Amino acid sequence: MTGRIRRRLIAERLDALPRRGPVICPLCARPVPQSLQDAHHLVPRSHGGKHTEVLHRICHQQIHALLTEVELAKHYHTIEALLAHPGIASFVAWVRTKPEGFFGRTRKSQRLRG
Ligand SMILES: [Zn+2]
Ligand SMILES: [Zn+2]
Repeated sequence: MTGRIRRRLIAERLDALPRRGPVICPLCARPVPQSLQDAHHLVPRSHGGKHTEVLHRICHQQIHALLTEVELAKHYHTIEALLAHPGIASFVAWVRTKPEGFFGRTRKSQRLRG
């Protein structure tokens, strides 16, 4: 049982990570560098979901920081619903101002750049 689930998981990951062409994050609409691609199940796997979208790792983490799997399964299983969530919407507005490879905090102050 565990082995079968594991194999399926690997197959889904390969499907979700195309090798050619830029991948656009459906959440923030920016290109996703290959090293920062994360596959998000719109309906969580624990609720029988199979379809994945490739997001920035930072965008993906934000979804799971704000919403439980039950909330995702019941109310937020489409990109449109996610974008309508106030917390996600303000995150997207913020992350869009960052470089596409941005992840985590940058520590360089304006004083050092000036
Ligand atoms: Zn996810
Ligand atoms: Zn993104």
